[in-house]
Amino acid sequence: MCARHAQTAFDALLVNPLFKGEILLDEPMAKHTTFRIGGPARYFARVGSLGALKHLLAACAESDVAWYVAGRGSNLLVSDSGFDGVVITLGHDFMNFRYDEDTQRFYAGGGVLLSTLVQDSFRRCLAGLEFLVDTPGTVGGALSMNAGTSTDYIGAQVESVTLLDAQQELIRLDKDELLWGYRKSSFAPDEVIVECELAATPADPFYIRGKMEAFRSRRRKTQPLGVASCGSMFINPPDASAGKLIEQAGCKGLSVGGACVSDVHANFIINDGRATADDVVALIELVQMKVFECYGVKLKPEVRFLGFA
Ligand SMILES: Cc1cc2nc3c(=O)[nH]c(=O)nc-3n(C[C@H](O)[C@H](O)[C@H](O)COP(=O)(O)OP(=O)(O)OC[C@H]3O[C@@H](n4cnc5c(N)ncnc54)[C@H](O)[C@@H]3O)c2cc1C
Repeated sequence: MCARHAQTAFDALLVNPLFKGEILLDEPMAKHTTFRIGGPARYFARVGSLGALKHLLAACAESDVAWYVAGRGSNLLVSDSGFDGVVITLGHDFMNFRYDEDTQRFYAGGGVLLSTLVQDSFRRCLAGLEFLVDTPGTVGGALSMNAGTSTDYIGAQVESVTLLDAQQELIRLDKDELLWGYRKSSFAPDEVIVECELAATPADPFYIRGKMEAFRSRRRKTQPLGVASCGSMFINPPDASAGKLIEQAGCKGLSVGGACVSDVHANFIINDGRATADDVVALIELVQMKVFECYGVKLKPEVRFLGFA
């Protein structure tokens, strides 16, 4: 295609050699989710700078192209028919971070991997992020989900978040302007988290290592590792454990197609390699029904859905 013949702002962007990013066509989302499930994104973009992100969002708005920002897809179930729009991921400039000793804060881009941040804070003997050890995903995804454990969550470490809003305006929100809940945050779906400040304070390395090892060993004992999943499938209901309710309702090992309730942790749905998104959705509904029949509790999925009607 030649830029001169481009019909929309989005078409023009696709062939713009100055665009600092990469756009793939019909990219299977199974390649970009830890579930290893998902049909094609019509476009899959990796933007390398704030300018490129603004450019892409403006082109989408002008050309009426739907978009969705994703991190590492570790909490994402994409439909078998995929997504008729642009899946946007944050690369290059958004993968930078630094620690400022005076403010005792990390300044991290939205595309930074949690594992990189956790490792760096351990290397610098900084406490505050130990609970994120072995949690897959990016800073942007973790903030959107308010990732954490039953006792600690990333929102508690946040000093500020900088985001690009629906009008492509860059906005910096201080911690008192943000709301955090159990696996939820106050960000809107059309806001892209581009950077944040996270508090991390110097501490005894043995204390930090001890905490990390405790989180890690608990995870290794209780969770299925090395399999395709999205982590916990359901949010814990108030004062109850979703995993326990699912197990007690007799759902461990229950399967639909290639999707199966883990034998190790009942709140994990595993893809045995053949699962479709439809299998997972059918299994979610089956588990919800069985738990509801036994306990009158309607389990709510933690995973985010993309491309479903
Ligand atoms: C094996 C395993 C273990 C897990 N353990 C835990 C755990 O202990 N605790 C926990 O909380 N979670 C856990 N998870 C879930 C997941 O790792 C976290 O929710 C993670 O923070 C998601 O990050 P992501 O980058 O993969 O986001 P994605 O899954 O790609 O996206 C999740 C949501 O965040 C939004 N999002 C992503 N990036 C941005 C951005 N830059 N700006 C705005 N919105 C954005 C997406 O639109 C989507 O709504 C686990 C998952 C797996 C597979």
